[in-house]
Amino acid sequence: MHTLPDNVNIPLKIALIYAVVAGLWILFSDELLASLNADPATLIRLSIIKGWLFVIFTAAMLYWLIRRYVTAMLLGDNALHHQFTQLTTIFDSVNAIIYVADLATHEILFLNRFGIELFGNDWQGKHCYEVLQAGQADACSFCTNELLVVGGAPQPPYIWEFQNTVTGRWYQCIDRAIRWPDGRLVRMEIAFDISERKDMEQLKDEMVSAVSHEMRTPLTAMLGYTEFMLDNEVPPAEQKEYLRTVYLETERLNELIGNFLDLQRLKLRPEPLYMAHPSVELLLREAATLFSANPLKHKLAVECPPDLPHVVGNAGQLHQLLVNLVSNAIKYSPEGTAITLGAHREGGNVVIWVRDEGMGVPAELCDKIFERFYRIDNTDRRMIGGAGLGLALVREIVAAHKGRVWVESTVGKGSTFYVELPAIATET
Ligand code: ADP
Repeated sequence: MHTLPDNVNIPLKIALIYAVVAGLWILFSDELLASLNADPATLIRLSIIKGWLFVIFTAAMLYWLIRRYVTAMLLGDNALHHQFTQLTTIFDSVNAIIYVADLATHEILFLNRFGIELFGNDWQGKHCYEVLQAGQADACSFCTNELLVVGGAPQPPYIWEFQNTVTGRWYQCIDRAIRWPDGRLVRMEIAFDISERKDMEQLKDEMVSAVSHEMRTPLTAMLGYTEFMLDNEVPPAEQKEYLRTVYLETERLNELIGNFLDLQRLKLRPEPLYMAHPSVELLLREAATLFSANPLKHKLAVECPPDLPHVVGNAGQLHQLLVNLVSNAIKYSPEGTAITLGAHREGGNVVIWVRDEGMGVPAELCDKIFERFYRIDNTDRRMIGGAGLGLALVREIVAAHKGRVWVESTVGKGSTFYVELPAIATET
């Protein structure tokens, strides 16, 4: 049952008060005149005065009543307006899309600022599927309207997840039917961006399949060789060969797990926490020293101009980045070839590079190799261990540093991987 708002009864109240006052006046004023016993001429004059008094009194009373109620109404309107502004401010400050749409016509009745920033300001009088979805000429097949009201009764909130076709991002949506001020039931949706969580879930799924493929191979080799050595008398030279294989496979497993954990950590916390001003030359020399005793006897060198500015970055992550690039250069280049680590200044940035004389990357795959779990599939490379996470981690680290990474390569001749990072501001 709806009750009428108070101010709807105001005209009735005024009319009633007026009728009571006028009735009492008529009843008692004529009685009063009759009781005066005055002559007829005086009575006519008194009657005229009485009429004027009646008009003045009732006009004053009407003025007072109307003024009182109008003021009350204006104050009420102001309070309502104030409440509405407060609610809109709250809805606008929420980091989620909030909108209201008519259940039957799909017309948008409200869209908060967060939604406007994503879908534009041109939403009034338009359908939700036109504004909030891409290339949709009619109600969406996944529209939840039918679940929100059953037999005319609003249902509990309906929670679901979907990938928006305009932003491409994933949202968790809470839909429910609410009553609009004019009494009709409408759909209100609150949609939270959960893309990061979805990405993590995907990363975990990919990891599970990588575990089955990539971790099994080194583990099988490690188990096989150690078991063989335990069960048989193996000559020392052969033993050393087997141990070398076990060592390489353990290293591969270690690298895989390390890269995965770092990637996951970076995804969870995209901003590097401790930004400092590490020296690029020092980072390059440390990475080169780490691999100087590599079993394939590559010749590692560092080329760095003396006046190179320091970069803005996290030394630990940048070290990890260089380790991945150099270990790839070693893996994908023939024994004994040169690997050069270098850097130069370019405007307000420092470009770090790692050059090898290895098998190279086909031009059409130069972007793809930075994707998670992507490995180039050819016979030469299939022999080389890896899970396709090293460059994905490099890309994440570079993104966290607001930098850029790319590769220039010629198949059969070699590759140079470049990383551009912001330099610390120096006086010129
Ligand atoms: P992984 O080395 O574990 O396979 P990465 O993400 O480090 O994974 O590299 C992805 C792919 O890019 C590699 O499988 C390899 O084919 C190619 N690649 C990376 N670095 C080089 C390089 N220096 N020279 C040639 N190919 C490379």
